[in-house]
Amino acid sequence: MMLVDTHAHLYASEFDGDRLEMIHRAIQAGVGRIYLPNVDADTIPALLSTCALSDILYPMMGLHPCQVTAGFTETLAEIKGELYRNSRLYYAVGEMGIDLHWDKTTRPYQEEAFRVQCGWACELDLPVVIHSREATEAVLELLEPMDPRPARGVFHCFSGDRHQVERIQALGNYYFGIGGVITYKNSGLAALVKNIPLDRIVLETDAPYLAPTPFRGKRNEPAFLVNIAESLGRALGLPVDEIEKITTGNALALFERSGKVEG
Ligand SMILES: [Zn+2]
Repeated sequence: MMLVDTHAHLYASEFDGDRLEMIHRAIQAGVGRIYLPNVDADTIPALLSTCALSDILYPMMGLHPCQVTAGFTETLAEIKGELYRNSRLYYAVGEMGIDLHWDKTTRPYQEEAFRVQCGWACELDLPVVIHSREATEAVLELLEPMDPRPARGVFHCFSGDRHQVERIQALGNYYFGIGGVITYKNSGLAALVKNIPLDRIVLETDAPYLAPTPFRGKRNEPAFLVNIAESLGRALGLPVDEIEKITTGNALALFERSGKVEG
């Protein structure tokens, strides 16, 4: 068996000093696949050179909502060019979405970038990896009336309420990314996950951010996915090997590609 980290920024400069060792620690910890989200046009070279380091690393391509500013149409065109030139290389469109924590003034641009990237996912039959910080409602309001809508996706670093869990399920094959926040005492996520069907939960670290307890506040890395799996197991009353089996199956289903034989 293996664990799958569905969201980790391993090309971040935080890993410049020990990137290979960090990947090795992940493998030692039982992490068999790691999916890397892109964030901006200028992160593409680092994303690709990092993915070339190991065959357990899988790239995704998109524009992060915090990088969406007034000149975003040019950036989107660059990212689209890369995605469409090498569409067999990428496992998802992402990360993309809406962030109302950092800058609400760019919301109209963020919404337009969201719609455009959902269009790519539909055309290329790829899942969407959605960032929805303080914006789960905003993302639902965009996705619910969308037609066509991406058939598969994940709400990365999911936060929301029971009612939103149901609305997300009604969208199609949508998953819930659970990371280090579940280990934080007052997050409420350990209680909320009981309302998410087991076959919809995937694990993620969001490394180098959001390290789980007992590493909270430090640099996060995929080897810490084990701590997240254990915490989810405690929340659901399930042994960690069961969590591993279920979440790995879910992650493979989320990123499965039509027409490609997986090795
Ligand atoms: Zn991210």
